[in-house]
Amino acid sequence: MKIKDIIKNNKTTVSFEVFPPKEWSKIETTKAVVDEMTESHPAFMSVTYGAAGTTSGFTTEIAQEILSKGVTPLAHLTCLTSTRDKVRHVVQEMKETGVENILALRGDIPEGFTFPDEQYFEHAYQLINEIKSMGDFCIGGACYPEVHPESENRVTDIEYLKQKVDCGVDFLTSQMFFDNNVFFNFREMCAIKGINVPLIAGIMPVTKASQITRIIKLSDCTLPVKFEKIVERFGENDNAMKQAGIVYAAEQIIDLMANGVNNIHIYTMNKPDVAAAIVRELGDIINE
Ligand code: FAD
Repeated sequence: MKIKDIIKNNKTTVSFEVFPPKEWSKIETTKAVVDEMTESHPAFMSVTYGAAGTTSGFTTEIAQEILSKGVTPLAHLTCLTSTRDKVRHVVQEMKETGVENILALRGDIPEGFTFPDEQYFEHAYQLINEIKSMGDFCIGGACYPEVHPESENRVTDIEYLKQKVDCGVDFLTSQMFFDNNVFFNFREMCAIKGINVPLIAGIMPVTKASQITRIIKLSDCTLPVKFEKIVERFGENDNAMKQAGIVYAAEQIIDLMANGVNNIHIYTMNKPDVAAAIVRELGDIINE
């Protein structure tokens, strides 16, 4: 099923994310994670794409596992470090294995990377054009409520986002954020700019204090004082931090829903217990 059809009515949707293993020998372990996660009935499940594209087959394999469990997969695909031919090959492979939904991404620039020549796509909008030309896919793009770290400013960031959407993106999934006001302001900016595709809010449950440095390095997102206090108080106690992180994420989701955000993507990071705990915490609110 296409994700644009899953999210088109005004019902709440909660989706999950898994990442494939780095080595083929661990594929069964990841499949077991997928199987456990599907028991919490996500609206769909996304599967990330290895930064350098070398494990593209793993993403497709995990997407197939999701599909075999009766859940719609969203396969991520990055283009920065793969030639156009390689990208086309992966899209074709996804098509042949029944993947209908692709999150089209540029990928992060690796250290020391010399910028691509015409053999490569430089930005996600080019990848989107390519995928569109290859079949009837539902295509998602990434968006950044706190601005992409490479962007000069908010104005150019939103202009490039508009360009990406105009290429035919069906929905946007946001980078994680911990302060809902950031997302509400971003939603307004999108509306002003005429970006009218559904925005899926990305929520990261922080269950370990040690995750935070990495999160900030990757996403540049700000931590509200309320969140910092939680980490200060519970960061040293693994069980308490995990519980606090789950409750914080659930509260964020409830506030988003109360403010008209229907589609939530949880960065579940191969943790079925965390996914299940958030769904439990939300209870009947999800089906409201
Ligand atoms: P783009 O849309 O190309 O934007 C990148 C930068 O270029 C931005 O600053 C933008 O403003 C600017 N820009 C865009 N178009 C132009 C233009 N025409 N001219 C000049 N500048 C332009 N990474 C992975 O490796 N694997 C994953 O599975 C993965 N999943 C992700 C899922 C989500 C929901 C998000 C938010 C990110 C994910 N990432 C993943 C990280 C992503 O690859 C990086 O954030 C990357 O740096 C940008 O990707 P993009 O698709 O947003 O790029």
